[in-house]
Amino acid sequence: MNLDRFRIDDGRHIPNLVIDEDATHATGQERYTITCSCGRMPNFNPASRDDALTAHLGHVGIHLEPPKGGRMPLGLRLVLLVTAMLTIAVSFYLGGLAVIDTYTLADGQAAAVRAISMLTGLTFAFALMVAVRRYIAPTRA
Ligand SMILES: [Zn+2]
Repeated sequence: MNLDRFRIDDGRHIPNLVIDEDATHATGQERYTITCSCGRMPNFNPASRDDALTAHLGHVGIHLEPPKGGRMPLGLRLVLLVTAMLTIAVSFYLGGLAVIDTYTLADGQAAAVRAISMLTGLTFAFALMVAVRRYIAPTRA
């Protein structure tokens, strides 16, 4: 298992998982002790290695202050989403125009290509919105 996975962004909470030799010897089972680099993690005697790491993550959740500027305000996230959606839709539309130009399509065909490229662009734009909706407006668990 890669402990880096548990390294927390601000680097202040690095788990230190050690085997508790005495307890391991006494119980005949591997016992762990977990501490945190911040030194504020409450004493905990986990039943297993996974328990220990879960407990550390819980501890980090308790002690982490809200990240400063780590999360963009909702308004900015929405603006970015709309910009991305517009970019997608417009590039598909322009792609359609380029196709019309390249093949010098007749009016009827040109209209069809314009409609298809616009619809495709909108589809992708909305797919993007669906894909990132959790990030834009997280649901409270
Ligand atoms: Zn900590």
